[in-house]
Amino acid sequence: MESKEIITHSAAETQQVGEQLAQRLPKGTVILLDGDLGAGKTTFTKGLATGLGIKQLVRSPTFTIMREYHDGRLPLYHMDAYRLENGGGADLGLEEYFDSDGVLVIEWSQWIADLLPADYLRVSLKRADQEDEATRTVTLTAHGTLFVQLVATLKRPADE
Ligand code: ADP
Ligand code: MG
Repeated sequence: MESKEIITHSAAETQQVGEQLAQRLPKGTVILLDGDLGAGKTTFTKGLATGLGIKQLVRSPTFTIMREYHDGRLPLYHMDAYRLENGGGADLGLEEYFDSDGVLVIEWSQWIADLLPADYLRVSLKRADQEDEATRTVTLTAHGTLFVQLVATLKRPADE
């Protein structure tokens, strides 16, 4: 399991991490996105969309379960599994999205933990310092072998 911690100091830097990542993602990628309300999940996803060349506005999928964006290099499927607390992931045909033509981002993946594929990325966002509104720890972890190299070679925004 390869893991990397990146500290960001603004929403723009968090977007930049997502953007850099997205430029290198293969189709069929699954990303689990964790973090409390306001941690920066939607901000990070906006960066992913930019990195995929998506121009459409990314909004939180909370009330829709899934939002799809098709105007980039690869489609982006943004899913919120919150409503699947009592199961229903299998009914939704989630496995089809795991082997998709695009990038699948899942928030609240704990509700579908028993359905996950062998290879996926986990991105966790955390307020790094309660005194500081703008600092986040972004932890990227490769599960399986597919994304190990990608995580290892990701750059911190300040390194660029
Ligand atoms: P979530 O989707 O996790 O609820 P959002 O991305 O909607 O969170 O909101 C994060 C908020 O925190 C935004 O208002 C953003 O501008 C702000 N913010 C401040 N610093 C950062 C940072 N380093 N990374 C991400 N967001 C940040
Ligand atoms: Mg959000």
